[in-house]
Amino acid sequence: MTNNVETLIVGLGDRSYPIHIGSNLIKNAKNLLSPHIGRGRIAVITDETVAKLHLQNLLQSLGRQNIETIVLPPGEGTKSFSVLQDVLDTLLKANFSRDDTLIAYGGGVIGDLTGFVASVLKRGCRFIQIPTTLLAQVDSSVGGKTAINTLAGKNLVGSFYQPKCVLIDTSMLSTLDARQMRAGYAEVLKYALINDPEFFDWLDDNADALLNQDQDRLRKAVLTSCLRKADIVKRDERERGERALLNLGHSFAHALEAKAGYDGTLLHGEAVSVGMLMAFEYSQALGLCPGQDVGRLRQHLQANGMPTLNDLTASIKNNPEALFAFMGRDKKNTGANMKLVLTRGIGAAFIEPCADQDSVLQYLQQASHKDNENQEQAL
Ligand code: NAD
Repeated sequence: MTNNVETLIVGLGDRSYPIHIGSNLIKNAKNLLSPHIGRGRIAVITDETVAKLHLQNLLQSLGRQNIETIVLPPGEGTKSFSVLQDVLDTLLKANFSRDDTLIAYGGGVIGDLTGFVASVLKRGCRFIQIPTTLLAQVDSSVGGKTAINTLAGKNLVGSFYQPKCVLIDTSMLSTLDARQMRAGYAEVLKYALINDPEFFDWLDDNADALLNQDQDRLRKAVLTSCLRKADIVKRDERERGERALLNLGHSFAHALEAKAGYDGTLLHGEAVSVGMLMAFEYSQALGLCPGQDVGRLRQHLQANGMPTLNDLTASIKNNPEALFAFMGRDKKNTGANMKLVLTRGIGAAFIEPCADQDSVLQYLQQASHKDNENQEQAL
């Protein structure tokens, strides 16, 4: 059965596109996607895990012969130059043209890679996002950022390239494990913390149910998140200004991920959970954010099994100088200035283009010191 679909539009002039959201939408993929595919050919790009669980459903639903499928290894390593080259070679060998369509069918890794492939294949072909993780449904599939990783760091080679359509089937999340659900939930919470305090109140009451796959609540959370993101993207597609708000907690998170080493011990969403609380604590230390809001956020994270700095290994968290150095290399920075997203409370984030670096380092030192004290007390 196909439950009713909610559709919202990312308004970007002639590059506008719809996001269809609902439960069991894959069964309706042919109808929803055909206006964007035309008569051209289709290549579905996915990873081994998603292929095993969900590929047949999509192929059946599209109901076409000769769909090319490219199944890649799961994991961050797939966002690489070598996989990019293999995928391009495969598509060029099959003589894919600009009028053909690539479908990204997977999490953020598959979406970011496929979007980048689509942006450079014969200078740009059509592509559609069908995100299958919570993180991809609420964040990476919307907004047109595509990327691969390089030895110098994550997402350093990429493009802005919008999909023709995003199809979000929340029932596909039922096969996702609890850890990946929570990692994606961090990005849901981010929208509430940026500028939607009522959404935070709602999440406080409903996070547990949505993390346990309640479809109505998932739909509302995904819809609200996509609305908030689309709103910002349509005003600032290329991150010249307010789109940077979407990086709340991410400067701290990227430093934690870099210190952890991208080996799966710390998922991106887990780092974002930790990083958002750090952004709140740092804002409190500057006298900007009321302690009560920091307390509410900490309580919300803990009540829903989301990590905070306390939960990370000593090798990640007890290195304030190394974390500070990673923050200095963040690609949001300009010249020697460190750009951070700070907050005046829940729903009141703002961009600080030139953070005071001494106080950032001081905060990091205090945060790791405080954590050591907590551990000693616990012993
Ligand atoms: P992911 O794509 O690695 O997926 C996580 C795991 O879940 C993988 O092992 C995958 O095989 C598995 N999986 C996917 N769908 C499943 C399903 N329905 N059931 C069971 N297993 C499933 O990771 P992610 O968290 O989706 O995305 C992380 C990536 O997204 C990072 O590379 C990050 O840089 C990128 N990202 C991009 C943007 C953007 O705006 N482009 C925003 C945020 C994050």
